Amino acid sequence: MAMAKVFAIANQKGGVGKTTTCVNLAASLVATKRRVLLIDLDPQGNATMGSGVDKLALEHSVYDVLTGECDLATAMQYSEHGGYQLLPANRDLTAAEVALLNVPNKEHRLREALAPIRENYDYILIDCPPSLSMLTINALAASDGVIIPMQCEYYALEGLSDLVNSIQRIGQLLNPSLRIEGLLRTMYDPRISLTNEVSAQLKEHFGDQLYDAVIPRNVRLAEAPSYGMPALVYDKQSRGAIAYLALAGELVRRQRAKAKTATA
Ligand code: ADP
Ligand code: MG
Repeated sequence: MAMAKVFAIANQKGGVGKTTTCVNLAASLVATKRRVLLIDLDPQGNATMGSGVDKLALEHSVYDVLTGECDLATAMQYSEHGGYQLLPANRDLTAAEVALLNVPNKEHRLREALAPIRENYDYILIDCPPSLSMLTINALAASDGVIIPMQCEYYALEGLSDLVNSIQRIGQLLNPSLRIEGLLRTMYDPRISLTNEVSAQLKEHFGDQLYDAVIPRNVRLAEAPSYGMPALVYDKQSRGAIAYLALAGELVRRQRAKAKTATA
């Protein structure tokens, strides 16, 4: 039985499209018949709300799973519009940092929780908070790869090298097989010349790690979460929905190519 690939969607900057990418990539992978679990690891609970689950009405959340109060299956909910399973989060999760302080193996709580269910999924996506907290460290320790959404702005490259260094350091300490899975350009507007310059620099520095798929700035992507829907349900013709479907296709193709070289 194949094990799920686990990807952390991370960037210490807020507002770069992490949550939008999680929800829409999850739904797009479902559209290609993959079994997907989305883990909301941000106390803001945006991925939870965007999946159509009320963060204020949770009986159990990812917090209970991290602290060992319940198992993952108990806390999990189905996102009806998304078609994937969701491990939801809300403000309770802000207490995790302190609750985990004296817990042995605190960096590996999520990894351990995922171990028994990994073979039930093709992809597990983790929506990280905009910080390098113990929550993000748990995500990185549990992941095979990191997907970094970013806007092509002037300061993006600077923040990016800090992020890549942190990921490498955390990887060395906790999870040696962790790698950068891919860099994703979000809220992309090719009419802005700076966008093209930054984009060219990214290609030069990161080569194949830069996804060919780019996510355009698209109002449907911003509207859909208030209906608890991915864009491909809210407006399946929208450029945003189509872009995330293209990303899912690229991700699956890359995965297949890697599996081939690994067994060749
Ligand atoms: P993060 O999780 O990194 O903080 P979000 O995914 O929440 O970022 O995105 C920040 C804001 O930008 C949200 O209001 C979201 O709806 C909006 N947004 C994200 N991606 C796009 C896009 N491609 N086009 C238009 N709006 C977007
Ligand atoms: Mg977010």
